[in-house]
Amino acid sequence: MREYFIETPGAVRDSLHSMVLILRTAVLSDLGLRRGNNEDSTYVGRRLLVVADGMGGAPAGELASDLAVSALAELDEADTGEDLVATLQAGFEAASEQIRAAAEDDAVRDGMGTTVTALLFGAERAALMHVGDSRGYLFREGVLTQLTRDDTYVQALVDQGVITAEMARNHPQRALVTQAMQGRPIEPLAVTLTPKAGDVFLLCSDGLSDVVTDEAITAILSTGPDLDARARALVDAAIEGGGPDNVTVVLAEVSAD
Ligand code: CA
Repeated sequence: MREYFIETPGAVRDSLHSMVLILRTAVLSDLGLRRGNNEDSTYVGRRLLVVADGMGGAPAGELASDLAVSALAELDEADTGEDLVATLQAGFEAASEQIRAAAEDDAVRDGMGTTVTALLFGAERAALMHVGDSRGYLFREGVLTQLTRDDTYVQALVDQGVITAEMARNHPQRALVTQAMQGRPIEPLAVTLTPKAGDVFLLCSDGLSDVVTDEAITAILSTGPDLDARARALVDAAIEGGGPDNVTVVLAEVSAD
């Protein structure tokens, strides 16, 4: 038997917006069927969501994703005004420094790192910052849009027109990450947008997106309205697809009630 754990059971309700937008969230992380430890970490707070997928072998991978998430969690209470990208940038720098310092402490941690996908809500806008291959999606009016771009070798091949996105899905080197938070300088991607009532944001590790197609994710998100049920259905789909990796899903729904 495998056990699920939901880190924030039920809905977290909080005033997000100077108007009446409310953020409800669901989080689910599963070991998957082939891994002995879970290197994914999450943070789900009042206005901040983070998914991090550690690398570098146990226990360094777990430590790296945990350090990144802990450092970024401080942004949840930061007084940022509306300069969300600068806030996230500062958080990424602080997190990266934590990883650099921890790697220096112990040779076993040499080369450890983590993906980071973080979404921060302000009064009017939201900003996403990203490095690595954990993804952020926006599900709006029935349409799923990937907000992140994988920092992977196969994504670079797709961008250059060498292979198609479909070929990337089964490429033998699809796990090769070209950029991650490892304590060295990085160039994270930043995206800003204006959330609307009805939006559902999905942050996930590659344990979901490598196994479950965008079409299948869209179908599951369309089943609404229960956010926990949809998070569970996403994780179940990854497990049914073989569960080769840790699977982590964060869902956040913007509502106007
Ligand atoms: Ca992974």
